[in-house]
Amino acid sequence: MLIPSPKGACICNECVEVCGTILGFDAAEEAVEPQHGLTLRRLPTPVDLKHQLDEYVIGQEIPKKVLSVAVYNHYKRLLADVDTSDVEIEKSNVLLIGPTGSGKTLLAKTLARILDVPFAIGDATTLTEAGYVGEDVENLLLRLLQSCNFVPARAQQGIVFIDEIDKIGRTSHNVSITRDVSGEGVQQSLLKMLEGTTANVPPQGGRKHPEQQYIQIDTSQILFICSGTFSGIENIIRRRVGNKVIGFNKNPAENDEQERGKLLSQVAPEDLLEYGLIPELIGRLPVLGALGPLSEDEMVRILLEPKNALIRQYQKFFEMENCTLTFTDDALHEIVKRAQERDTGARALRGVIEELMLDIMYELPSHKDISDYVLSAKVIRGESNVYEVSAKSQTKHRSA
Ligand code: ADP
Repeated sequence: MLIPSPKGACICNECVEVCGTILGFDAAEEAVEPQHGLTLRRLPTPVDLKHQLDEYVIGQEIPKKVLSVAVYNHYKRLLADVDTSDVEIEKSNVLLIGPTGSGKTLLAKTLARILDVPFAIGDATTLTEAGYVGEDVENLLLRLLQSCNFVPARAQQGIVFIDEIDKIGRTSHNVSITRDVSGEGVQQSLLKMLEGTTANVPPQGGRKHPEQQYIQIDTSQILFICSGTFSGIENIIRRRVGNKVIGFNKNPAENDEQERGKLLSQVAPEDLLEYGLIPELIGRLPVLGALGPLSEDEMVRILLEPKNALIRQYQKFFEMENCTLTFTDDALHEIVKRAQERDTGARALRGVIEELMLDIMYELPSHKDISDYVLSAKVIRGESNVYEVSAKSQTKHRSA
């Protein structure tokens, strides 16, 4: 085969190979170890994966472990070129259960970043059965393709995160005689995709129609992580495990949240069935991870410890203005208490801090006389002014 250059000179394929050996370039090696994506050599062990997750996700030790093992096994199965004709290793998609703002999305997103694989987030509530108003399940794959510049080989190594899977439960009290196209119907359409099929993805999205060109994606290697809050499932679990906490039996040291976390950690497939997932779908989500509600101490750690922790981000801002920012211990706990009142887990932290910092950020660039800011619980409660506290602490610094 002759390969022409733009100026008209040609080189044949054999000469290319000879030149390649002269330059010490092994094409086969390059194919095995591409620049991007995951290879067997780059696959971290479950322990490594968990350590890296620890840098971003606080608490949730058991789900982190479950996920690390599941993800390692999934990619090992894909990347190790072993003969699996005698023992067929099945794909293990994951189902994460836990209250809102407890880190379900964060876990999946961080994993995809660690592994350097394409990642897409979709919402099960927008999906409907094919042919009805709403989105087709294939649109989830379209997002995955978009995240890797439409390279199907890369997309097939990716992770798809499907949120709100609990909202497509079969409603047993559905009295309507029409078809349930957004609940059970979607579960049926997801089945094939989760198990592994060649899906036809319309490159422009939208509805599929016969004359359209499709991109074919093999979903048998894509890892699906489904997630949902499954609110109320604790009652189903409690009924099953027979742990009736009525009246005097209740452990006084435990609050409702802790009790809910404990029950959630015992979730079993039959509870999901009762909640409204169809048995076939539960069968395709064999790995179950239950996230508990975050405690006050864990929320404080979320403010401080992750690589992109909120407090660190604000301190960086202040640094740019040649100032320092310190939060006292009681201030951190005050912020967490306010966030907990909003009942959206760690997600509320950002809102609380943004509100709190608005006035200070507004005045910061024009306040040249103060360079060290100290935020205490009193300042947060409005009992004292940050500028007084900071000025006082500066005199203290100076006298020290
Ligand atoms: P959900 O469980 O509802 O999917 P997310 O994972 O989207 O919640 O969490 C929302 C935000 O809250 C995240 O972006 C992150 O900043 C913070 N967050 C929640 N849980 C944790 C956690 N365990 N560790 C660190 N940050 C967390």
